[in-house]
Amino acid sequence: MKAIVYRSTGSWYNIRTETGKTMSARIKGVFKIDNITSTNPIAVGDEVMIEIESESANTAIITEICPRRNYINRQSPSHKKQHHIVAANIDQSVLFATLRDPKTSQGFIDRFLVTSEAYHVPAIVVFNKADLYKNKEQEKFAMLKEMYAAIGYRTILMSVKNNEGIDELKTALENKITLMSGHSGVGKSSFINSIFPELQLKTQDVSGWSGKGMHTTTFAEMFDLPTANGGRVIDTPGMREFGLVDISRQELSHYFPEMARVLNDCQFNNCLHINEPGCAIKDGVVNGTIHEERYVSYYNILESIDEKSY
Ligand code: GDP
Ligand code: ZN
Repeated sequence: MKAIVYRSTGSWYNIRTETGKTMSARIKGVFKIDNITSTNPIAVGDEVMIEIESESANTAIITEICPRRNYINRQSPSHKKQHHIVAANIDQSVLFATLRDPKTSQGFIDRFLVTSEAYHVPAIVVFNKADLYKNKEQEKFAMLKEMYAAIGYRTILMSVKNNEGIDELKTALENKITLMSGHSGVGKSSFINSIFPELQLKTQDVSGWSGKGMHTTTFAEMFDLPTANGGRVIDTPGMREFGLVDISRQELSHYFPEMARVLNDCQFNNCLHINEPGCAIKDGVVNGTIHEERYVSYYNILESIDEKSY
């Protein structure tokens, strides 16, 4: 029987069978997938084959993981070579950002977008807490909206508090599996609660919460959306970002779509777009077709990539 994994807590997985039954399941032994051997190889969003273990205890054994359409990796902060699969079979990703309380940095947003590009997952950026935006933030949002639209990214202005932008995102989530990401305190749980009142995820008080230690106690979890066309959201509490994995300095500009479009016009085909002559990307920054803020993000990410590891 086929099932989908909704939650992984380490050794047990919450699954839903194709007949709609919710069960606890686990694997036996060691699985080897995509050349990664792991005792915890199954991710939220995975489609698996199961055998019923106990009808009375409602448990099952996972016998097989169905081929993944894609998956999102996260690098272990302590063991750089250890990757952990966060979610599988994702249709799109949504980053929750805020321009106030707390302000999400431009660099963080662009890293998220680069990672989404690298995984070939379409991305949407939500700017929440619009009710708190003063003139300065409203102007900033207008600028960001235009900048990202020109590149091809959709942005949504939202205030969960004032019920603005909720329907727009809800519509965008229909019939898709969406990975939701963003710093703690930006309003992800509040959004999910607002569209799914029965669920009542714990929301966090930003002022009183340090964020330390949460990462080990929280797990990614998938929710069915209460919309006519279905759709599922994967929430990743405590996960700051889904991590830049295996992107070399040379390929980085491929993941900035506005840069990728003009790359071939650089004089040197190994151009890193720093100070090489005849660089189409630097020309683009000068003539305004490439936004300076995006170039700054490109430069900072480039600097953060350790060339020795490639
Ligand atoms: P999460 O960590 O991303 O899940 O964030 P939460 O949903 O826990 O929200 C963090 C805090 O921000 C809570 O105190 C929420 O009440 C508050 N919050 C969420 N959305 C909004 C909003 O649109 N406007 C304002 N002013 N506060 C919000
Ligand atoms: Zn160049």
